[in-house]
Amino acid sequence: MHYAYRFRLDPTPEQREQLDYHRDTCRQLYNHALNVFEQIPESAGTLNQRVREVRDQLTDLKEWWDELNDLYSTVAQATVMRIEDSIKALSELKQNGYNVGSLNWKAPQEFRSFTYVQSGFEFDSKNGQSVLSLSKLADIPIVKHREIPDDVNIKEATIKKEPTGEWYACFAVDGKRTPEKPANPERCVGIDVGILKYAHDTDGTAVESLDLSDERERLERAQHDLSRKEHGSNNWEKQRKVVAQRHAELKRKRRDFLHKLSNYYATEYDIVAIEDLDAKGLVDLPGNSRNRASAAWGTFNRMLEYKCDREGTHFVAVDPKDTTKECASCGVKTDKPLWVRKHSCPSCGFEADRDANAAINILSRGLQQLGVGHSEETPVETALPVDTSVSAKRVVETGSPTLKERTANAVSK
Ligand SMILES: [Zn+2]
Repeated sequence: MHYAYRFRLDPTPEQREQLDYHRDTCRQLYNHALNVFEQIPESAGTLNQRVREVRDQLTDLKEWWDELNDLYSTVAQATVMRIEDSIKALSELKQNGYNVGSLNWKAPQEFRSFTYVQSGFEFDSKNGQSVLSLSKLADIPIVKHREIPDDVNIKEATIKKEPTGEWYACFAVDGKRTPEKPANPERCVGIDVGILKYAHDTDGTAVESLDLSDERERLERAQHDLSRKEHGSNNWEKQRKVVAQRHAELKRKRRDFLHKLSNYYATEYDIVAIEDLDAKGLVDLPGNSRNRASAAWGTFNRMLEYKCDREGTHFVAVDPKDTTKECASCGVKTDKPLWVRKHSCPSCGFEADRDANAAINILSRGLQQLGVGHSEETPVETALPVDTSVSAKRVVETGSPTLKERTANAVSK
């Protein structure tokens, strides 16, 4: 299990300078290390071995590069090892058909974070204020809006500067206790995610898409204002921060919604089945909304997966092929363009909302894939005759698309 807690830091002006100094020293180290790495032939070893070879030169490097001695040891090491992650991410993009070049030298704006591994960071309090105590850096005030459970081991602390200028600390943790997943799951749900509706599940709950038009409009206005300022001027710089803030607002709102929705499914059910979105064909959609939708769905999937892990809920991602075409009752395939919102089977007469039909197929595949002892009747027999439409606003406000009190109270991120 591996997920992150994220807290805002509240550094003093002096600490800000220190943070920026560390960030920039790491950036210079990264650029240098990348240069050294690129001179090592591929035949010299695996990617990991070659990056480690660069990392092992740190001790020698510190002989002549004084600033490196200001960094905590694992921070410097993690900075070099980041090359490995970047290359992996790059080749994943390539595999997915994106046209990407090689790794680039990082400019100051592009290098935003540095990481402490295992040690060098500690929670503390000073004059009644929570602080994050960072070795070779400072005791930085931290806004701890929630507690990290005592039984988790924090593996890493990443200190990051957002484009808004705000600093955050993110913690990757190892859960010591992973709850057992039920051997005889009772509450099972299949979820179909879409564009017109965000999600439609086998219990008949249809969650509408989040309305972000106000936020988008504010962002566009801010961008327009930026374009009219003289590039690089004080006003331009001020407005650039406003633009970054508008971006952050939009992102926060979307994440909040996805957190609450995924939390609801992970806590309310024993099995959650969803489509493997990496494989979901998005060809029906125009480019722009396709990118946006696939990014948000990917986030939703990842949140759902780690939350299910945390709650002891089975999570299963199924092959998305033909989930919309197939009849959930008899399996016969019928073509349906996007605008046909109803499933009406010419073969067996089964009728359902288009997305409800897909959700049932997703759940059936999920149950089959898991092979767990689910003794109840097939999902199609338990499908509700009437679907309930729920606004995304309700999910954001109550943390749940249904009115069940248990989930409304259990809202957390
Ligand atoms: Zn049928």
